[in-house]
This record gives sequence, C-alpha cells and structure tokens, in this order.
Amino acid sequence: MNTPVHTERHPESFYTATARELVEYPRLEGVISVDVCVVGGGFSGVNTALELAERGFSVALLEARRIGWGASGRNGGELIRGIGHGIEQFAGEIGREGIDAIARMGIEAVEIVRDRVSRHAIDCDLQMGYCDLALKPRHMRELEEDQAFLQSLGYQPETRILQREQMHEVIGSERYLGGMIDMGSGHLHPLNLVLGEAGAARDAGVQIFEYTPAEKIIKGDKPKVVTPSGEVSCRYLVLCGNAYIGHKLEPHIGGKVLPAGSYLIATEPLSEAQCRDIIPGNMAFADLSVALDYFHLSADRRLLFGGLCNYSGRDPRDITGALMPNLERVFPQLKGVRVEYEWGGMIGIGANRLPQIGRLPDAPNILYAQAYAGHGVNATHMAARVIAELLSGQAERFDIFDRVKHMTFPGGPALRSPLLALGMLYYRLKDLF
Ligand SMILES: Cc1cc2nc3c(=O)[nH]c(=O)nc-3n(C[C@H](O)[C@H](O)[C@H](O)COP(=O)(O)OP(=O)(O)OC[C@H]3O[C@@H](n4cnc5c(N)ncnc54)[C@H](O)[C@@H]3O)c2cc1C
Repeated sequence: MNTPVHTERHPESFYTATARELVEYPRLEGVISVDVCVVGGGFSGVNTALELAERGFSVALLEARRIGWGASGRNGGELIRGIGHGIEQFAGEIGREGIDAIARMGIEAVEIVRDRVSRHAIDCDLQMGYCDLALKPRHMRELEEDQAFLQSLGYQPETRILQREQMHEVIGSERYLGGMIDMGSGHLHPLNLVLGEAGAARDAGVQIFEYTPAEKIIKGDKPKVVTPSGEVSCRYLVLCGNAYIGHKLEPHIGGKVLPAGSYLIATEPLSEAQCRDIIPGNMAFADLSVALDYFHLSADRRLLFGGLCNYSGRDPRDITGALMPNLERVFPQLKGVRVEYEWGGMIGIGANRLPQIGRLPDAPNILYAQAYAGHGVNATHMAARVIAELLSGQAERFDIFDRVKHMTFPGGPALRSPLLALGMLYYRLKDLF
C-alpha cells in the first residue's frame, strides 16, 4: 500500500507512479529581474506563466516543492465545464452580463485545456465524456435547468438527460435516479497535464524554479519576492499558491481560502469485461451531493474513485478504509477489489464558491487566483487567461471577477477550519432532504 507523504517530493500516488516525465527544475540562487513573477507551480501558476510568456513577457515561476506537487498533480482528473456554483447570486455585483460572461468562460476553460493538450502534444490520457449523477428528484430538476441554460448559451457538445431506466447505457450501478451526459467534459491524468504545460512554459522562455518558496513580499512600484537563497524583482507579481499559500505570505488572501482535504484510491487494473460492466462508455462521473463521489477509469483500466471532504486539516488514517464503503455502494460488484494506491490533497475553499481572481487592495501590481473548490481543472486555466489578458491591457474579463467581494473567514488561522467544518455540516444536513 502506498500512503501519502507530504514532503518536498511528490506524494506517492497513482499519478506519480505513471508520470511521463518528472523533470527537475533548479532552485533559485541569486537575484533576478523579470516582468512578471508567478508564485505556485500548479495549473494556475504554470498556465499564467505560459500565457504571459506567449504574450512576450519575461516570467519567473517559483514553486516551493515540485511542479504539480499541490492539488493539480493529485486531483480526480475530471475536466468539467463551468466556473463556480450558483453564479446567479452575484447578479447584484456583476449584472446579467457578468453572469453570462462567467458561464461562457466556463465553456472556454475546457477549450483552453483541449487546445493546450493538442498544441503541445501533451500525453495526459484526455478522454471526453462525462455524466452528472442524480441521487434525488431535486437533482434531476437541477440537471434539466442546467441543460436548458447550456442550450441558451449555444453550447455545442451533446448533452442528454438520462432517466433511471437509461442509466445502464453509461454506468453499471443501480444507485442513481438519472443523470446528464455532457460530451464537452471528460477526464485526464492531471499530473501529466501540468508537467506537460510546465514543459511548454519552459520552451516559451519561462524561468522555472523548484524547491523555491516565496518567503516574503516587499511591495512597491517594483515588488520583490524573497526566497531562501535569492530574490526576484518584477513589475507584476501573481500569487497562485491556492490552498497551500498559508497565512503569512499575504494575509489578505490567506484568510479568504481554507484548505479542505479530498482523497482518492486507485484499484488494481480491472479486466476488460469488468470495465464494460461498470463504465461502458469510459466516461467520468460525479454525483450532485455536497460530500460527492467522483470516479472514472484510468488508461490502464483502474477505477479511480474519489470523495470525502475533511476540514480538520488532518488526513484520515486509513483512506482506503474510509472510501471503500462509498465505492462498494456505487459498484457492489467490485466488492473485494484490491486497492493499489491511496492519496489526498488540499482543495481551496472560499465562502461563496466563486474562484477568487483579483488584485491586492494595497498593491494593484500584485494579483492572485485561488479558491476553485473541487472544480479547478478547467477554472485554473481560465484564471490564467484573464490575468494574462489584464496584464496585456484587456481588463474586461478580469474586472468581472475582481468586482465580486470575498469574505475573510473569521476566527484567525486556528479557528477557521473548525468553523468551516461546522458550516459544511450544515450543508450536508441540508443535503439529506
Ligand atoms: C483530491 C482532489 C481532487 C480534486 N478533483 C478535482 C477534479 O476531479 N476536477 C476538478 O476540476 N478539480 C478537482 N480538484 C481541484 C483542483 O485540483 C484544484 O482546484 C486545482 O488543481 C488548483 O490548482 P492551483 O494551481 O490553483 O493550486 P495547486 O495545484 O494546489 O498549486 C499550488 C502550488 O503553490 C505552491 N506554493 C504555495 N505557497 C507557495 C509559496 N509561498 N512559494 C512557492 N510556491 C508555493 C504549492 O507548493 C503548490 O504546488 C481536486 C482537488 C483535490 C485536492
């Protein structure tokens, strides 16, 4: 059994075991000067760096551990359209136009990923096809509304509502009342995607530094980022540490994003017959509950099954033991299947579930992107694009996000997680009805 280890090396996981190319980048030694310094080597930071380098900026990317070490190299790999949740709630701040613009960006975000994969020939097992799963009649109504909204936006990929008796077309499980197929979403190997994107960024001229934590920011006309054995001075600084940023580097954003653990297991490779039985169309799935299950098959025919949500800041002692009952509830026919990998990572939760993309109130040349909750594979790519647009003189799309105000969680670092746990318990109880 491989258990997660949170060190400077990548945590052991199915993804690290099947990573294509774990290139090691140097640590920063000395003083450098660039147009833009980006902190954080996950999807947000790597893609911000890449987008900016493609627009002609000189860029340095600082990652405290390894590229993809955070959520980007550990997640469920589900590439699902959409940004945020319940975006209608922001009508007062951004108007109808803003809401429609975010909805369109939620579709464009998937296109950005698809374009990266094909343009840079990134081998990350991208497979289109996804199905939302309904556990309650309320979920079916939500799916119908969602489909109508997508159609009103002119969404091109096929979407189809499935009733209970049609579910066997996509999943060998009796658990669901119905679902919605979306051929414009899918699944992929996230660590291979972010490593491939880092390679593209390096080729575009980005100076990438690993083992290089940003320890201190000195604000001013030319911000400086201090690291253990170096310093970067820049015109703009972009902070993309998300759930791993901590409170000290920049308290204004640290207090708005709370880390919550999510976990995955990967079974032994299944037979072709078992795969046909449980997931005949090789789609990705997630149900619509708050503490959701998400799962799909890997390219080597393992079932990758994720879920749980842990706000205590401590990993469960036995991830497999905690996830297996959920897996067997969905696929009782897999009872007794061997689990070969288990791991987890931190998702960044904000109070209103809209990604936080903005600039510091006391330093307009310092930007940030964070708090995608469990829905960041696509949204990180869009955040990177709107930040690159802003620095290239097109502020419209960035400003939509920047207009939304985000609450700082009360209680200080020690009390925030227990408060979040309490808040989420409320939503889980609500979810029972
Ligand atoms: C278990 C799990 C399952 C998930 N499943 C899905 C899914 O199926 N679909 C989906 O859409 N989303 C999913 N998500 C969410 C998604 O993975 C994240 O939203 C996304 O990866 C966030 O990317 P990021 O670059 O913002 O942050 P991260 O990938 O976490 O990267 C942040 C990086 O910043 C670095 N860093 C932090 N502070 C500093 C500093 N001071 N100096 C230098 N570097 C620093 C960290 O070391 C880290 O590497 C999941 C998340 C988890 C944890």
